[in-house]
Amino acid sequence: MSSLQNATKTADGVMVNGFLVSPTIDKCDGCDRVREFEGEKFCSSYPNPARKWVGGRCNFATHIKLEAAAAQKVNPLKASKRAAKGH
Ligand code: SF4
Repeated sequence: MSSLQNATKTADGVMVNGFLVSPTIDKCDGCDRVREFEGEKFCSSYPNPARKWVGGRCNFATHIKLEAAAAQKVNPLKASKRAAKGH
């Protein structure tokens, strides 16, 4: 795992480019965007990974892309067109 770039430890927590970042959550495990810093894991794309998972999966998660692609195989627009044509 590569390390978090531009990260510094401050009294408030870990900062990256002036943003306070929160560690990743268990759902992030396996994602390519996870970076390490001072023994903790952080997301290279989001300062607050937990929030990315509220109400569904993180849309930038690299480890569950395959599942998402499979779910999108059925195109709702095409399906409704087919239904309208009557076959
Ligand atoms: S991109 Fe999403 S799943 Fe991946 S580490 Fe960041 S918050 Fe977690």
